[in-house]
Amino acid sequence: MTLRLPAFLNLRRLEGRMVVPFLALLAVVQVSSWTITDASIRANTEQTVRAELQTSQRVLEHLLTQQVEQRAAMLRDFEHSYAIRQLLANADRLSKTDLELSLSHELESKNQRLLKSGLIAYTDSQFKLVAATAPEAPDFAARLPALVLSMAKQDGASTPWQSHLLLRQGRAYLIVAVQVKAVEPGGWLLMADELGAGPLQELRMLSQVKSSFMLRLHPDEAWHTQGSVLNKVQTDALDQQNLHEAGAIKFKLGADDMRGMLRPLVRDGEQELAVLLLRNFDLAFETFDRLRLTLAALTLLGLLTFALASLLMARRISTPIRSLANTADRLGHGDYDTPVQALSGAAEVSDLARSLESMRQGIRQRDAALNELAFKDALTGLTNRAGFSRLATRLLARPGGHCAVLVLGLDRFKHVNDVQGHEFGDLLLRKVAERLGPLLQGDDDVLARLNGDEFALLLNLGDEAAALGLADAIRRNFERPMQLGEQTVDLSAGIGISLAPQHGYEGKLLLTRAGLAMMEAKKRQSGSLIYTPGMDVASQESLSLLGELRHAVEAGELRLYLQPKVDLGRSQVLGAEALVRWQHPVRGLVPPMHFIPFAEQTGFIRTLTTWVIAASIRAWAMAQAQGLPMRISVNLSTRDLLDQDLPDKIMRLLQAHGATSQALCLEITESAIMDDPQRAMGTLAQLSELGFKLSIDDFGTGYSSLAYLKILPVNELKIDKSFVMNMEHDLGDAKIVRSTVELAHNLGLTVVAEGVESAKAWNILAALGCDEGQGFFIARPMPEAHFFNWAKGWQAPDLNGDSTATVLEQLKTDPLI
Ligand code: C2E
Ligand code: CA
Ligand code: CA
Repeated sequence: MTLRLPAFLNLRRLEGRMVVPFLALLAVVQVSSWTITDASIRANTEQTVRAELQTSQRVLEHLLTQQVEQRAAMLRDFEHSYAIRQLLANADRLSKTDLELSLSHELESKNQRLLKSGLIAYTDSQFKLVAATAPEAPDFAARLPALVLSMAKQDGASTPWQSHLLLRQGRAYLIVAVQVKAVEPGGWLLMADELGAGPLQELRMLSQVKSSFMLRLHPDEAWHTQGSVLNKVQTDALDQQNLHEAGAIKFKLGADDMRGMLRPLVRDGEQELAVLLLRNFDLAFETFDRLRLTLAALTLLGLLTFALASLLMARRISTPIRSLANTADRLGHGDYDTPVQALSGAAEVSDLARSLESMRQGIRQRDAALNELAFKDALTGLTNRAGFSRLATRLLARPGGHCAVLVLGLDRFKHVNDVQGHEFGDLLLRKVAERLGPLLQGDDDVLARLNGDEFALLLNLGDEAAALGLADAIRRNFERPMQLGEQTVDLSAGIGISLAPQHGYEGKLLLTRAGLAMMEAKKRQSGSLIYTPGMDVASQESLSLLGELRHAVEAGELRLYLQPKVDLGRSQVLGAEALVRWQHPVRGLVPPMHFIPFAEQTGFIRTLTTWVIAASIRAWAMAQAQGLPMRISVNLSTRDLLDQDLPDKIMRLLQAHGATSQALCLEITESAIMDDPQRAMGTLAQLSELGFKLSIDDFGTGYSSLAYLKILPVNELKIDKSFVMNMEHDLGDAKIVRSTVELAHNLGLTVVAEGVESAKAWNILAALGCDEGQGFFIARPMPEAHFFNWAKGWQAPDLNGDSTATVLEQLKTDPLI
């Protein structure tokens, strides 16, 4: 099964070609713009996060500063408290130990009530520790001078909190000190607290940044978390990062993508404190998710809208084109009647539609003109065969339609044409058309010329009686000779009739059947004939016979029979006539009259004649070899005479057997000569020149004029057997035989009588001076193999018993004929 793409996705279709590339282009543009935007959002987020971290750092610094200041303010309050002032003012009066004790006590109570610091201490103005709330106070007091020094240096601007940071034994402390100025001799109040996660938590509350103090004891070590807002899992994960460098960092914390900034805060000897500020990048990026989603939706919407729009546009273009293609198809199939629809839309398309329409009109006109030509006979201006059958078919298609078709074939037209010339022939045909025309009376009756000398007449709604009436009218009309210039022509014709619907519903078939009837009418010389199914069968049989006949020659089914010709006076075998037979595998021995006429019609006779001539020459050679000198007579037909190669062909066959033209006599029927006297004469002259004996066969049955007989280069006349066989009983025939013998002798020709069936006939012929005889009385045609023995053993019959007197007597008393 093949997958069928919809038209708009099929790149071989116009729609596809318009929609797909545009859509692909748009998709590329949209996707790349989406990618670029996404990347820039990401870059932007990175930047924002970095800025946020920087801001957070400043906030943290500010928070630390605040813590320092808060503590300083607390210490200053403390300094101004009554108890302290009182104590310090009376310091001189107290013992050192008392002072220390009282001060410690006061620091302790104040711290517990108010300050809640890890450590409060008091030093004298020389930074000597006087009292403290915790034992590690000396360590912090020792740092005081440096702190005071840095505080003095500060102008308050930069990072005051920095100097308050102190690293001790891996811990960070915030120390704040104020100078006691209220009471002489003055001193320093000091507060120290381990740096807690307080500011980090505050920062966390103010921003999205989580942070962590990081510490390392040596520059080569990794940072580790000190105080943090991160939970335990996170700090562990962070410690495993093994951070060494300060600056911007990126890393994964669990599933979160983190951005961080590690800022050193203070360095104390080898130890270092830094703060790590962290921002969850994914969370930051998430804020743009809506934007990205909107962007993606817009991209998709754009693609869809564009796809839809370009599809609609492609449809608008391709639909009219498709409709034009359909129109062109219709035109291609020959429908020129439906006008091409005018199309709105693009100018090019409507122009194309207009062009197609004018093309359609042009073709229709030319088609009509061609039809006119195709269905008309140029010579007579009548409808031709195609036009006739089309009209007939149309008439029959009407409800209740029936008709009669007459096909008329002129007799002897070919002869007229050849003798009088083609112009004369054309004129004759036109005159015939003029005579036939008025014989048709109905509005829908049609007269047509089919071809050559054949005309057809259609009687719309005509029946058998009407058809026969028309045939009769034509016959009567033709009785009046036609005057063409100085010539008078006798007209006669064979007419075949077919009737619809009995014989067919189609013009073509009706014509064919009327044509068959016409041929049959001509054959039977019966004037007009109505078609019968037997005629079809006969013509079909002939056709199948032709196939078989071709095969017969190849398969060696033809047989040569020989019938002797003898000298009537000297009782001597002079030769034989070659007569062909067909040994048919089913039908048995087929006589020549069953296939020769048909072979003549189809032109196959040439092949057949060649076979007979070759076989005859072989027979002659055989006779020669057996000491039987003779001449073989071969029958030629009309078609053979028209064959220009015939003389050469025969000569070649003769040469092949070492024979000469003396071996053969060629018989030509009278009618064969009269069919085309000019050409026949040419061939006969050639054959005669080559030395062949020529004989006119069936003499007396045709209408050969004596004028022709005089100039034909023939040597022999063969009186037709119909006269010879009747001679004994019919004085008329006897007279014809006698005068034919005399005529032939006068023209210097020998005479042969065929059909000698009795001794009596022989005697009469011999008495009349007929030279040769051939007939069943002498011998029937026999297979060539029998012939030689027959010839060797033949004795002239004893003729004395037969009385020929009566006929001869009668002839003598009638000497005028
Ligand atoms: P045809 O040329 O007139 O041949 C003589 C015919 O008369 C032969 O008939 C023969 O058998 C017959 N015949 C001979 N003597 C007598 C007789 O005493 N009484 C009667 N009733 N008939 C006799 P066949 O052989 O049947 O041939 C008929 C025709 O067929 C021939 O007439 C000839 O026109 C044609 N034909 C035969 N063989 C050939 C051939 O090889 N080529 C051509 N073109 N035509 C041939
Ligand atoms: Ca013959
Ligand atoms: Ca004959």
